[in-house]
Amino acid sequence: MSATSQAGLYQGPVFEMARRQFNQVADHLNIAFDERERIFMPKRAIAVSCPIHRDDGSVAVFNGYRVQHHLTLGPTKGGTRFAPSVDVGEVGALAIWMSWKCALVGLPYGGGKGGITVDPYTLSLRELEALSRRYMQEMIPFVGPHIDVMAPDMGTDERVMAWFMDTYSMYSGSTVTEIVTGKPVACGGTLGRREATGRGVAFLIGRAMEIVGIESAQATAIIQGFGNVGSIAALELAQRGVRIVGVSDHSAAYYDPCGLDVEALVAFTRENRFLKGALAEALIDSDELLVQPCDILVPAAMERAITADNAGRIKCRILAEGANGPTTPEADQIIAKRGDEIFVLPDILCNAGGVIVSYFEWVQDLQRFFWDEPEVLDKLYGTLERALQRVMARAVRDGISNRDAALALGVETVRNAKAIRGLFP
Ligand code: NAD
Repeated sequence: MSATSQAGLYQGPVFEMARRQFNQVADHLNIAFDERERIFMPKRAIAVSCPIHRDDGSVAVFNGYRVQHHLTLGPTKGGTRFAPSVDVGEVGALAIWMSWKCALVGLPYGGGKGGITVDPYTLSLRELEALSRRYMQEMIPFVGPHIDVMAPDMGTDERVMAWFMDTYSMYSGSTVTEIVTGKPVACGGTLGRREATGRGVAFLIGRAMEIVGIESAQATAIIQGFGNVGSIAALELAQRGVRIVGVSDHSAAYYDPCGLDVEALVAFTRENRFLKGALAEALIDSDELLVQPCDILVPAAMERAITADNAGRIKCRILAEGANGPTTPEADQIIAKRGDEIFVLPDILCNAGGVIVSYFEWVQDLQRFFWDEPEVLDKLYGTLERALQRVMARAVRDGISNRDAALALGVETVRNAKAIRGLFP
């Protein structure tokens, strides 16, 4: 790719990971170098300062970002992350991955992602609401139901989405539920959105177990991250008879080969927010947890959890990427070379349930016509099954990994749409 004035804007290891994955797939698809930059580089990046009053009376200013990757197939769509790591490079990479994901599963969106550089757990509820509302207020000129539609991601939830929607609506003078997805059902959300990503992860793991030949009742799983995605995936897998032998969040990691009581752990985090203090007897080092034996390993927290340091030591048969970007390209190479044929459910397929049901929410909000939960789930699982089939068929046809097949399908869709629409003016 040639260098542009924008190239220096997006920096950091996560953006480099997205670039490297793209270039590998672009080589495979024989995309000319002068075409790559148009497909890869984000369309827009917005940076805002968000001042709020702290509870102690002082004023604090937080940096917020939103990256809109491409507008070729429709509005941009993607989560909002509140985390200390957030910068324009990280959300840029996440926006790009959202584009490939939406294209892979056939949604009429480009990718978007945004966030605030903040540890949300250090804010009081009032401060969190003030920051959420100020961020949306700063973003109003740049978003809209047909421009860019936000959703939850790490550190944000239904409550934050309700504040976003309320803030946008107050400025619009009427209720605009379709401005964000992942809202509470009580204010325009859809049934099934809160659980959609974790349920989608569990559904695809179920399909991978059938393909690899593992019985649920004999299977074990380890899950890193116990927030929206990780806890729901753990509950769903446990309901399918899988023994959950390990879980972790940023506060603690637990491992018990006899199995953990996931419902009790979820109840504990509902009361205490984090896993710390739940199970002293099963404590394990969080890095060690990832290399314990299991059939299914689900990284559902941060990017870059499986790296060159631990990829040679993970002991699973299915790697199900609930998180975005949990496996580095170096780790991918090590896993491929191991020769024990770990079945990888790549992130843009594995966690696509969230954006699929976000799309259903947006459609329902636009039509003011709501579906029942079985309809949502039926359409969710149907969409994931079709995407899984396409990925596996492409991997076999081209002799490439599931990840490269998923990325190739996503990149190719965006590339074709750009080619057909032409270059304006
Ligand atoms: P969340 O904020 O609800 O939960 C994140 C969890 O990760 C928390 O339990 C946190 O304690 C834990 N965590 C953070 N750092 C950790 C560490 N170093 N080790 C172990 N655990 C750690 O966020 P979420 O919505 O569940 O998102 C998790 C991942 O899934 C992110 O990569 C996100 O981009 C991705 N994702 C989320 C959705 C969605 O619908 N929420 C959809 C697709 C992908």
